[in-house]
Amino acid sequence: MKPFIDLAAQGQVVKSEVLNAFSEIIDHAAFIGGKYVERCEQSLTDYIGRRCLVVSSGTDALVLALMALDLCPGDVVFVPSFTFAASAEAVALLGGVPYFVDVGSDYNMSVGALSNAWSDAKRRGLQPVGIISVDLFGLPADHDAIEHFASQEDLWVINDAAQSFGSLYQGESALKRGVISTTSFFPAKPLGCWGDGGAVFVDDDALYEKMASLRCHGQGAMRYTYQHVGINARMDAMQCAVILSKLKIFDAEVEKRVRIADRYNTALKDLAVTPLVPEGRTSVYAQYTLLLQPEVRDQVQKALAESGIPSVIYYPIPIHQQNAYKHFPAGDMSNTTRFCQSVLSLPMHPYLSEVDQDQIITGFKHIHQAESAI
Ligand SMILES: *Cc1c(COP(=O)(O)O)cnc(C)c1O
Repeated sequence: MKPFIDLAAQGQVVKSEVLNAFSEIIDHAAFIGGKYVERCEQSLTDYIGRRCLVVSSGTDALVLALMALDLCPGDVVFVPSFTFAASAEAVALLGGVPYFVDVGSDYNMSVGALSNAWSDAKRRGLQPVGIISVDLFGLPADHDAIEHFASQEDLWVINDAAQSFGSLYQGESALKRGVISTTSFFPAKPLGCWGDGGAVFVDDDALYEKMASLRCHGQGAMRYTYQHVGINARMDAMQCAVILSKLKIFDAEVEKRVRIADRYNTALKDLAVTPLVPEGRTSVYAQYTLLLQPEVRDQVQKALAESGIPSVIYYPIPIHQQNAYKHFPAGDMSNTTRFCQSVLSLPMHPYLSEVDQDQIITGFKHIHQAESAI
């Protein structure tokens, strides 16, 4: 079976340059901090057009952002339930209350559902302070609408862009949205390193300085002085070297992802609901996700696996139904529940050849037809 995401193929493209960088890092024993970290932050700042701090993971990026915004125990933060757990985990970890909000047909937070959740939270005497929007599967959420609501109700927005590095909203990077945006360089993300890594992006100088301090134990202007109770959330020099090399080929990789998505769309649009990309947004297709009939989804996946075609369900169980989170408040979750029963993601990565993709498409068509006929 070919891999769902071919990280080995991508690794070959940057391997020699990265090994040279590793060799230099080893020779200078500059493992933490140093010029690769500085260069990586500068390149990411230039790429997004917003000040960047690299951090140890996408999860820690969210934790740092919430700490910088002074999230207090009991504060309510609206988050989608149709997402990876980290979006809500960071809130709960700091004693906050994730309030789960349903998503729309773009798989991202629905502003109607957000507004209902806010009214309900107010009615229950809860204390809403912010929103974590998520750009799921690489597609930006409707940031104008979310930010408009947020400013009306005096809430901040953190954009969890772990899956959407490289995507555009109204012609600008989705990582320019939210008072802070966060991303992940987990290997399987659109821009991934060879271990754990992530970043925060911010315009406000005070928030930038605070997160720079928080990621290094709350350090003050001098070593061994402390301004805040912080954490260790640094990204190391070797991971920064990987990101520097991969950033050079990133735009070309995104073009390939979009081309692959277009080929899937053309071939499969009559069989399943293909990804929606509303006007004014671009997707980097962190996942290529179809909506099938819930009655056939699991059988289709099983039959695909039997014929050597990998597929993944992102996500089988919504966060608000997980044991760790089910005591937190949640609004109506009709779309989230339906999507968890109907989604199926097909192989998507820049090194997927047309021949291999055609095999996936042909296999999918046969299997889908057979399962739907039963
Ligand atoms: C991957 C992911 C994260 C967490 O990133 P890590 O680097 O794995 O900690 C957070 N939010 C979303 C939506 C993600 O997909």
